[in-house]
Amino acid sequence: MNEVLITADLVIAGPANQLTVDGAVLIESGVVAAVGTAAELEASVDTQVPRLRCPGATVLPGMMDCHVHLAFDAGSDPVSAVTNADPGELSTAMAKRAQQLLAAGVTTVRDLGDRDGLTVALRSSIDSGATLGPRIVAATAPLTSHGGHCGFLGGEVTTDDDIRAQIAHNAAIGADVIKVMASGGALTPNGPRMWEAQFTPRQLRLIVDEAALHGLGVAAHAHGTETIGHCVAAGVRTIEHCSWRTAEGIVYDPTITQQIVDNNVSVCRCVSGDWQLFLEQMGPERAKAMAALIQEMRGAGVQFIAGTDAGVPGARFGDYVGMLEFFSSLGFEHTEILDMATVNAARALGLDDVGVLVPGMRADLVVVDGNPLTELGVLRQIRHVFTAGRLVTR
Ligand SMILES: [Zn+2]
Repeated sequence: MNEVLITADLVIAGPANQLTVDGAVLIESGVVAAVGTAAELEASVDTQVPRLRCPGATVLPGMMDCHVHLAFDAGSDPVSAVTNADPGELSTAMAKRAQQLLAAGVTTVRDLGDRDGLTVALRSSIDSGATLGPRIVAATAPLTSHGGHCGFLGGEVTTDDDIRAQIAHNAAIGADVIKVMASGGALTPNGPRMWEAQFTPRQLRLIVDEAALHGLGVAAHAHGTETIGHCVAAGVRTIEHCSWRTAEGIVYDPTITQQIVDNNVSVCRCVSGDWQLFLEQMGPERAKAMAALIQEMRGAGVQFIAGTDAGVPGARFGDYVGMLEFFSSLGFEHTEILDMATVNAARALGLDDVGVLVPGMRADLVVVDGNPLTELGVLRQIRHVFTAGRLVTR
């Protein structure tokens, strides 16, 4: 289907306050050719062009998951699973996970850590049309310290030369972004604690500068309060997790938040679909404290982007809307949440051809039953998904 005119009760062109009631979107050769009212476009578009009429539905830009790990299986021990997997079988599993995301309306994913460049191979296969899947922005192996968080993915570095060589390697195999494990993480047995720094401020600057030489931005995994500050000062583009941990517990620093805002750094908080269980495990006091910090950052003007960390234990692929509902539970407006998932995500990932539906943009869009501005849960009721103008779900 080269051309199609989609009509629906509502078109959210994006940002989410840009609406057309009884709207229409014309797709031509993989891009958005026109957006307007159904009456206008029905009248002006050639009658030979196929119509896809969607009463009761909303058309919106394809959603984006800014933090996934296609190589991880979301089981209780992803480290062994990914380390022991046969590359062929792992590739097949990754393609299947990518398809689950696409079926859930996620038309772009940023993969922030895999092994052996498998995500790049999957990206090529999807781009060529051989495999169905979302557009992939790939980090390949994250830079980490020796024995550090996710070192089993192959990105351990110690010296400055190691750092340069690993970034050059990732760039050479086709990475779209450089990921650094700036602090410890929960996954890795015997690795540094989550609040502990894995790199010095000087090394973080080297990583950002070296990535820039290859034309790449940096996404930084940072739980530690001090590390978050060092990453922002170094010039990373996104902070992943941003959970403000120290040896003494949670310590929030509003001056660092101000730098995040001033430097235009986006924050991907990484919340899995079953966040309610996670909050229960945290206990009411800590959960309340975490919610308060997210509110504090929101109030300061931090730009959040949507990410699930799909693949880590308990973060299932395709359970995307649950993450959006977490932000709703904190009082975020639905328009804000849709922007986190679309236009703001695109900006943070440096993609200028997706995130909104205006003429000339890539035709990545989703049709859902109902109106997500009144009921976020309708984003689970996917009627159609288009990726680069190709209809993949009916
Ligand atoms: Zn992650």
